Amino acid sequence: MTTMLGVSLSGRDVLLVGGGAVTARRLQRFLDDGALPRVVAPDLSPAVRDLVEAHGVPWAPRRFRREDLDGAWLVHTATGDLQVDLRVAALCEAQRVLCVNASDGAHGTARIAADTRSGDVVVGVMSDAGVDPGRAARLRDAIERLLVSGRLPLRRRRGGAAGRVDLVGGGPGPVDLMTVRARRLLAEADVVVADRLGPADALLPELDPDVLVIDVGKRPGHHPVPQDEINRLLVAHAQAGRRVVRLKGGDPFVFGRGGEELAACLAAGVPVEVVPGPTSAVSVPQAAGIPVTHRGTAASVHIVNGQGEIADTTLAALSDAAVTTVFLMGVAALPRIVAAALAHGVPEDRPVAIVESGHTPQQRTTRTTLAAAVADARAAGVRNPAVIVIGDVARASLLLPEPELAGDTTT
Ligand code: SAH
Repeated sequence: MTTMLGVSLSGRDVLLVGGGAVTARRLQRFLDDGALPRVVAPDLSPAVRDLVEAHGVPWAPRRFRREDLDGAWLVHTATGDLQVDLRVAALCEAQRVLCVNASDGAHGTARIAADTRSGDVVVGVMSDAGVDPGRAARLRDAIERLLVSGRLPLRRRRGGAAGRVDLVGGGPGPVDLMTVRARRLLAEADVVVADRLGPADALLPELDPDVLVIDVGKRPGHHPVPQDEINRLLVAHAQAGRRVVRLKGGDPFVFGRGGEELAACLAAGVPVEVVPGPTSAVSVPQAAGIPVTHRGTAASVHIVNGQGEIADTTLAALSDAAVTTVFLMGVAALPRIVAAALAHGVPEDRPVAIVESGHTPQQRTTRTTLAAAVADARAAGVRNPAVIVIGDVARASLLLPEPELAGDTTT
């Protein structure tokens, strides 16, 4: 019977006997684990030599001797010579030093699990009978895929891990447009502070019932929980030792006030990281078949909050035929935007596309021109959330000869 034991090798003396391919793999792993490995072998394969040189690993260029065991917590033997490996293993046994014998068909007192990590969770696979590294690796890989799916109960049941905040970009809506990292962090979270936009609706019901979900319900022009209070909540829960995910639509750093939240955490000394998400500024036009840049048509993109003042830089972008201007939160401001652009001399026939609820079943695209945009948007009953794209890339015929794209209501 094998007992699987989690051993901390950090800072500990580990002896590797042999200098071949198996040693190279294990040496890398012991180095990754923070161990202090040393190697005894008459010759080193190029891979072992590289590691030894890169990490200053002590190497005795000779055959194994009994006194090499002195001081070792763990010995790994892979000389390619069964007799030598068996002798090393027997000496380890006598001296009560744990020994991994990598020779085929023979074991020492210890084995190394095929392992995978997810956050602070480590899962190892090994067999009780004869070793089968191929099976262990396949099984480990399958478990790894499950771990990254975000569908396993990774959440700590006991405090002890330090509280932290992750500012997670959820993308434009569909759960499968979230990053793998975002899914994992959500599975680990004790507290989820969520907006309305993005994948929250689909995801929140999946969380453990005892995960605290705080809906701060951000919608354009309507912030039920003020930003200062959101910042305060994030910091307070993290300081109480909880894992906090701040789940946001799109990308946290694109009109998401993620920068303020990050700064608040840093100021309070709370560990914080940002996980990017596909921003609606790019992914929503893309859902309607609109590339925000396109060789020969648009060489740069200007992304702007439609609620704000129409700055000179925005007017300059609108005037430049080689620039795509993307407005977020722009539905209510459309008449103001159009009036300013026309007054500034932007051509009336500059193409405009309004993409509502991108990447959802309700997605709809209204294609129009600057001059007709306000009337067409009103006639179509355009509503939030929507991304407004102004520029030649918004032309329906850019990628397709006819406007055959799903959901198009070209007028
Ligand atoms: N951080 C977000 C943007 C937040 S501002 C991001 O990177 O996407 C909110 C605005 O994003 C909305 O007013 C709308 O303009 C846009 N938006 C977000 N999701 C959208 C979607 N699925 N469809 C259309 N527009 C969307």
